[in-house]
Amino acid sequence: MRSVPLPATADVVVVGTGIIGASIGYHLTEQGARVAFVDRAEGVAAGATRLSGGMVRAYDPDPGVGGLALAGLERYADPGCWPTGCSPLVEVGSVTIGPRAAAPVFRDSARSLNRVFGPSVSVVADARESMGVGLAGGAALIEERAGYVSPPEVTTEWIRHACGSTASLHLGAHVSGVRGHRAGASLLTSAGTIEAGAVVTAVGGWGTERISGFPPAHGVRTRSIQVAVVRRPAGAGSHATFVDLRTGVYAKPLNGGRSLIGRPHLVWGVPTDPQPPPDPEHTRSTVEALVDHLPWVAEAEVIQEIRSFDGYTEKSDVVEEHQDERLWSVRAWNGTGVKVAPEVGSTVAESVLSRF
Ligand SMILES: Cc1cc2nc3c(=O)[nH]c(=O)nc-3n(C[C@H](O)[C@H](O)[C@H](O)COP(=O)(O)OP(=O)(O)OC[C@H]3O[C@@H](n4cnc5c(N)ncnc54)[C@H](O)[C@@H]3O)c2cc1C
Repeated sequence: MRSVPLPATADVVVVGTGIIGASIGYHLTEQGARVAFVDRAEGVAAGATRLSGGMVRAYDPDPGVGGLALAGLERYADPGCWPTGCSPLVEVGSVTIGPRAAAPVFRDSARSLNRVFGPSVSVVADARESMGVGLAGGAALIEERAGYVSPPEVTTEWIRHACGSTASLHLGAHVSGVRGHRAGASLLTSAGTIEAGAVVTAVGGWGTERISGFPPAHGVRTRSIQVAVVRRPAGAGSHATFVDLRTGVYAKPLNGGRSLIGRPHLVWGVPTDPQPPPDPEHTRSTVEALVDHLPWVAEAEVIQEIRSFDGYTEKSDVVEEHQDERLWSVRAWNGTGVKVAPEVGSTVAESVLSRF
């Protein structure tokens, strides 16, 4: 995808070419808006999106995330929603594990999810394992039609398609400030100024604090996310994606007999650039915490350790409302950006254009 010199004007500037900015820009161009994508990095999907696990499922214990994730999964699964006509979803299934006492809540959720996905969502309360995942004494919600996507590929597909229509891409342009005026907003970047009708920031964990003139996002903090890629030993079968809500451990299968494993890494306020190296002790404790779910993991070879970060906040609003209706801050929160991206992009695009 070609980055071109900054235009003098655009209907909407989208700052950030992660999965959230890409989805917003794509959906804006679907409505005919002239969009300029601007990012400080030299490539698209350079932030949290690049290294993301991309696990997608409809259920989430946070009802705000759950609604967006359900609509997001429907879009990921529907080939008609994709410019190439191919769904990016790898349907390996998803297992969400909780305490036994969560079984009635899971059953309620399964009933409503089955209204959308047909009879593909179920609950197990007394089994030892399901879809290759040990349940470690918990109850589980099983979503057969969930799985994972490749976040950089989805991001690239959205931006490529948008740039084939009414959008343009501007990389290596650091946004330092914005000035609202009667006719719109002036966006100041290291590559020049753009006059736009509206500016949408989707800068993830970077937050908008560093963009002068932009109302600061409320309390966005960076938090480390560290995962590892392991090679499954001979004879160990594949498994569904899963998360155990009791401990936060998760895993997803990868091709070539590999799996990605993770566990919350509670290191806050990490630098965005350069990022600290992976912590081998965290990988060791992740393996230990996963043995009850994937018994083979103790013998698995660790091939790669990956450390990145995301923006976290206690406030679960995707869109930060500003008094100035030309300025929008959008961010997914707390490690859920991929699940919600298709729905967030569609609804934000609609809201921005409705105020034009
Ligand atoms: C290891 C890992 C695993 C994950 N697993 C999952 C998962 O399984 N499922 C799930 O749903 N989510 C997952 N997440 C979370 C999800 O990936 C993120 O929430 C999502 O990618 C955030 O996307 P974004 O577009 O908001 O931000 P980013 O991808 O971080 O993009 C922000 C962009 O803004 C640009 N930018 C910042 N400041 C400026 C500026 N001043 N000027 C110009 N450009 C700027 C950056 O260069 C960057 O390209 C995971 C995250 C990580 C790190």
